[in-house]
Amino acid sequence: MRTTTYLSQTNLRGLAEDLLTAGTRVVAPAKIGRAPYQQVDYQRIAKVEELAMDGALPSRPLKQFFMPPTEILLRWKQKKSDVEIEEISTQFPATVILGARPCDAAAPGIVDCVMNWDYRDELYFGRRDATTIIGLACGGFDKSCFCTAVGLGPDATAGSDLFLTPVDGGYHVDVLTEKGESLVQAHAARFSDSTGMDAAKRFHADARKKVESNLNPVPPAVRQWLESNFEHTLWESIALRCHGCGACASVCPTCHCFDIVDEARGVDRGERRRNWDTCQTSRFTVHGSGHNPRANQNTRFRQRVTHKFAIYPKKFEKILCSGCGRCARACPGGMDLPELLAEIERLATSAEAPQLRGERS
Ligand code: SF4
Ligand code: SF4
Repeated sequence: MRTTTYLSQTNLRGLAEDLLTAGTRVVAPAKIGRAPYQQVDYQRIAKVEELAMDGALPSRPLKQFFMPPTEILLRWKQKKSDVEIEEISTQFPATVILGARPCDAAAPGIVDCVMNWDYRDELYFGRRDATTIIGLACGGFDKSCFCTAVGLGPDATAGSDLFLTPVDGGYHVDVLTEKGESLVQAHAARFSDSTGMDAAKRFHADARKKVESNLNPVPPAVRQWLESNFEHTLWESIALRCHGCGACASVCPTCHCFDIVDEARGVDRGERRRNWDTCQTSRFTVHGSGHNPRANQNTRFRQRVTHKFAIYPKKFEKILCSGCGRCARACPGGMDLPELLAEIERLATSAEAPQLRGERS
C-alpha cells in the first residue's frame, strides 16, 4: 500500500485536537524546560499548543514509550508456602506518535527482532500494537547525524504508518500501512487531495545531500574488521575517553538492555521490575562469584560497538543503530561514533598490520 494525500498546517493541529478530544494518547515533539534552557523532547501532550514540529531533533528517542525506564512485570503475594502471582495487563491505550523523526520511527522495527526472538515480549508488543507512528521527514539536523550511513535517511519511511514531508502550507503525506490508512479514513475531513510531491522530493534530496556529507555508508568491511579484531589496540586507546556513565545507551533508540529485580513491598508481597541497564557500566556483567568477564572499559566499549555493527547484524541482518547521532551528542568524554566508524573503515581498508594486545584482559 502506498498512496499520498495532503495535510495543511491548520489541519495538522486540527488532527491533533481531534485525537486529544477522542481521548487518544498523543506523543509529539514538545518544548520542555524554561527559556533560555528549553529543549525539544518527545512528550505526551495535553494540548495542541505544545506541538513543536519544526524544532530540533528531540533530545531523547521514542523507546521509553515502548519499554519504559522501569516497569512492573508481575506482582506476587505469599501465603505461607504458596505464592500468588498477579499478571500485568498487556493491553495498552491507543497512542499516536505525531512527528517521529525517521531515525526514531525506524528504531523500534530494528529492536523488534530481539524482542520477538527466543521469547515474545508481550508488554513491549502490546505497546507497539497500540501505537500508530506518523513520521516526519527530517531536514538533516547536525554533523553527528549519519542515518544514511546505516541504510536509512532523513526521508526513510521505515517504521512509519504515515509519513509527512513539509511543503508549502502543510505536509505531503505518504500513507504506508493499514494503520495509517485507518487513521486517514477516520479523520478524512482533515486530509485533502495529494499535492506537493515535487516539493517533497526536493526537500528529501536536499536533506540527503546534507546528511550524506557526514559519513560514508558503513561498508561490510567494518563488520568483518570487528569480527576479526577483538584484541586490537584501538579499543584500549579509544576507551580512555569513556567514563562508563551509560549516557550513550540511555539516549540510544536501539539500546534495549535491561535488568530484572524483585522488590519487596512489605513482608509478604512484592513486584518484579524491569529496569533499563547498559553494557557500559562496570557491574553489568559481574557474575555472582564476583568475576567480571568485561572487567575494564575497553571490553565494555568494544561490546557496544561490536554488538551494534557485527553481532546483531549477524543474528538479525540489521545494524543495531539508526544513525541518530545522540550518543555522540550526549557523551561527556567526546566519544564520536561516526568518527570511530570512519577510523574502523580506514583500518579495514588499509594495508596496516593489525596491532594486537599481548594478552586478553
Ligand atoms: S556516553 Fe561516552 S563516556 Fe558515557 S558510557 Fe557512553 S561512550 Fe562512555
Ligand atoms: S548508537 Fe548512537 S547513533 Fe546509533 S542509534 Fe544509538 S544513539 Fe543513535
